[in-house]
Amino acid sequence: MIYKLRKALEKNRIESELFSTKDELIYSINNFLKPKVIVGVGDSKTLEQLGIYTLLRNSSCTFLDKYKPDITKKEKYELYRKNFSADLFISGINAITLEGKIFNLDGNGSRVAPIIFGPKKVFLICGTNKIVPNDEEAIYRIKNIAAPIDAKRLNKNTPCTKTGKCMNCKSLNKICNYYSIIQGQFDKQRIKVLLIEGEYGF
Ligand code: SF4
Repeated sequence: MIYKLRKALEKNRIESELFSTKDELIYSINNFLKPKVIVGVGDSKTLEQLGIYTLLRNSSCTFLDKYKPDITKKEKYELYRKNFSADLFISGINAITLEGKIFNLDGNGSRVAPIIFGPKKVFLICGTNKIVPNDEEAIYRIKNIAAPIDAKRLNKNTPCTKTGKCMNCKSLNKICNYYSIIQGQFDKQRIKVLLIEGEYGF
């Protein structure tokens, strides 16, 4: 299955690498974290579980840390804009298909926008739990697993936090505003998928 996925990504001009352990993945990312390298991140349970935020804080790179204690709304907004000129942007994803398509859902666009355009390099970290056969299953996964859990995590007053599945709400608190599908890129070295064996994120 992973071989098929990586072949499909390659056909879509998206590089990938497979890691068996968290330590191998951390070691590989750490190689990029040199002084003066500016790194931004997307909101991601996967990154949190893998200790990526801690790694960035302890490294010599310039981390655009939106989780700093006492960060103001204005400062966070400025970081979101700085992400576009980062050297490296690291994010999780919501689903990846065996056809080599990467699916993401976002509430305010601050994650999907810099994945698509801006930062020189993008690492998308993906546990093997996010692999699905096709587009239909990717959307199903987002609506019935990822989005309801995320809405609950963010304390949103949306119907899915009670039912556990998407009710196609029109709520002001709705987190499902921007869907993105990445199915190719001009520069094949820009976005790279870092696959890690095991369950990470949701
Ligand atoms: S559209 Fe509304 S109900 Fe559906 S997952 Fe998103 S926030 Fe929940």
